[in-house]
Amino acid sequence: MDQAVRDRFFKKVSKRPTKKGCLVWIGYRTKGGYGTFSISKRRCTTAHRVAWEFENGPIPGKLWVLHRCDNPPCVRVEHLFLGTPQENSLDAKSKGRLPSGADHWARRRPDAVLRGARHYLVAYPDRVRRGSSMGQAAKLTDQDVIAIRKSWRALGRNKLALKYGVHEVTIHSILTGKTWGHLPLGDYDPAVAKILSPHRRTRRRLAAFKLTPHKVQTIRQMFHRGGITKIALAKKYGVTDATICSIISGKTWAHLPVGD
Ligand SMILES: [Zn+2]
Repeated sequence: MDQAVRDRFFKKVSKRPTKKGCLVWIGYRTKGGYGTFSISKRRCTTAHRVAWEFENGPIPGKLWVLHRCDNPPCVRVEHLFLGTPQENSLDAKSKGRLPSGADHWARRRPDAVLRGARHYLVAYPDRVRRGSSMGQAAKLTDQDVIAIRKSWRALGRNKLALKYGVHEVTIHSILTGKTWGHLPLGDYDPAVAKILSPHRRTRRRLAAFKLTPHKVQTIRQMFHRGGITKIALAKKYGVTDATICSIISGKTWAHLPVGD
């Protein structure tokens, strides 16, 4: 790595070691306390990884750079060592870094735990599988199937699903003839059914925020083509800057080509 990058890097490192000898990152830090650094326009990663690479060259494979000192912002190379993610969590557990007991989020933020009227089971009783729909699929009879195919216009897919205690997809399969193909089909029109039974808004919103391999590829391509910032991408896909950073650096979704 060239000298200009090193200079830029060490400008963000504290000159004075802590009591334990840590040299900490004074630049931008993630929520977890790790420093972040952009080696180039294309590559942004955590500062301690960069520090390790300055000294030792590229990090082999999918290994993590871990802290002996247990101090996330520390970039002192003597305090860093390579390990697997499994070793990291074992290490965290042995050092008591993983929150449990009184530190667990459910204890610290009891207000955030959904209870009572906000609990899933109470808020969405219709989505809870019960009785014959529990475990194994509800048993539909030939008569049920014929009735479903006759009444889809009147009820719509989701009301039918509730009425018969099956999933909406099951109703859809029945209506398209994918299942129960030996019985008469009726006049099912998926386009009309979609209008009759639109998906719930919340579900659609959640789906939009969920990253797919396709979205990840698009994010990488858009970024590498240039003209769009990480912040703009984060906004566009409803994720955090750190998520975009990890995608672009290949820290996450590593099984897909990074294109770097
Ligand atoms: Zn340290």
